[in-house]
Amino acid sequence: ATANIGVVGLAAMGSNLARNLARHGNTVALYNRHVERTEKLVREHGDDGEFVPSATVADFVASLKRPRTAIIMVKAGAPTDAVINELADAMEPGDIIVDGGNSYFEDTIRREKAIRARGLHFVGCGVSGGEEGALNGPSLMPGGTEESWRTLGPILTSIAAVAEGEPCVTHIGENGAGHFVKMVHNGIEYADMQLIAESYDLMRRGLGMEPAEIGDVFAAWNGTELNSYLIEITADVLHEVDKATGRPLVDVIVDHAGMKGTGTWTVQTALTLGVPVTGIAEAVFARGLSSQTVQRGAAAKAGLSGPQARLDVSAADRDAVIEDIRHALYASKIVAYAQGFDEIMSGAKEYGWNIDLAAVARIWRGGCIIRAQFLNVVSDAFESGDADVSLLFAPYFRKAVDEAQESWRRVVAKAVEGGLPVPAFSSSLAYYDGLRSGRLPAALIQGQRDFFGAHTYGRVDRPGAFHTLWAEPGRPEVEA
Ligand code: NDP
Repeated sequence: ATANIGVVGLAAMGSNLARNLARHGNTVALYNRHVERTEKLVREHGDDGEFVPSATVADFVASLKRPRTAIIMVKAGAPTDAVINELADAMEPGDIIVDGGNSYFEDTIRREKAIRARGLHFVGCGVSGGEEGALNGPSLMPGGTEESWRTLGPILTSIAAVAEGEPCVTHIGENGAGHFVKMVHNGIEYADMQLIAESYDLMRRGLGMEPAEIGDVFAAWNGTELNSYLIEITADVLHEVDKATGRPLVDVIVDHAGMKGTGTWTVQTALTLGVPVTGIAEAVFARGLSSQTVQRGAAAKAGLSGPQARLDVSAADRDAVIEDIRHALYASKIVAYAQGFDEIMSGAKEYGWNIDLAAVARIWRGGCIIRAQFLNVVSDAFESGDADVSLLFAPYFRKAVDEAQESWRRVVAKAVEGGLPVPAFSSSLAYYDGLRSGRLPAALIQGQRDFFGAHTYGRVDRPGAFHTLWAEPGRPEVEA
């Protein structure tokens, strides 16, 4: 046995992760169900470092040094379960099985329990950054026991992205914590992308600008506090010209946004936990609406009435409106992150994880899709305790939202007037206004609930639960 780490599943992600491991001095055992992938990897990239290919699980396990540590990168769901069981059968107590796929965190909790009962360690590890990240440095979010982290930590640290001199990996917490945090990362990614798309739409349809021109705007925004990977690639996408037609590529791409499920999980989980992640939810719903071909086709045919999707702006005011959009994007982004971190806080409480939110923000600064300058200040806010309740209360972000909000309100108002959908902008603003409202109309809802369902209500002037006998004369109030 010579390998200190193994990779099972050598499609795009697994092979790139294996190459990254080999390039950083690890001796990497390789196994894939169909041996062709293993052979191809060794043939094409064998000189990246030390590989030990195997054609069977038994040989693969035998090629690993103790404690045997194997990272699984296969299709999420049933294939992952199958591979975990095969490995667990061949491994021995103390060995470590790592699932690097996009698994649902409840599955990870279940698997960890089952594998622990067999004396092995199971680590659900979020891997972000796509194929490119897997090869050149991903952001890594491992869960699992402290003991497994002692073996796995140095290996993962060797391949993680580096941001400002620090590796983008930290031990997130027990069992499903890593996959939970990865899930929320993806939810925030959805919100980020939707906010950028709304900004684009306001300029494209609202102001009648050309994609390349809007690409220039995003390129300029990348030099502001919005600096991030997603803003940068947005500029690139908008500057791309379709070779076949000579038109802007974005104009020939079908406008149905796909999704693989992590955004939906983020929202489903938030609903279960009772956390209002409105920005993420609207982003998921917006993708859903984009793909409702039947309804959208029928709407186009019926010519549903409404404004012409233009912003009522004079040429002289155009640049000011673009600046307003930038502020609206920034403020909405702060809300989306505040909500995402709120979900992590609630998840940690519900599942008993001790998650260091400052560390989470730090490991998202590099390697992953939402990497951004912004995460430095997010990290500082959690580090200092200023964001213990919500990111929105940290002085830096309070000030940012304060400075942006006039613009934010103008953009939402103008968009609504002009018939341009801005679900993430407007729901983020509604969340913010809801949060800062001293009293909410929820009091009325409690009254209604008590009326039809005797659900009781609390009173502002004394403790206890109360019920009004709505059907009785004089409607007396009783203590429930
Ligand atoms: P795929 O999700 O396309 O999975 C292909 C791999 O799974 C192949 O190695 C395949 O083996 C193996 N496999 C499928 N079914 C089985 C089975 N029943 N038993 C054994 N092996 C099986 O590969 P990707 O590389 O795209 O992704 C791997 C994992 O990484 C997934 O969980 C994905 O969600 C996750 N991920 C992907 C990211 C991305 O950007 N693509 C980013 C982060 C995580 P064979 O060759 O024999 O068919």
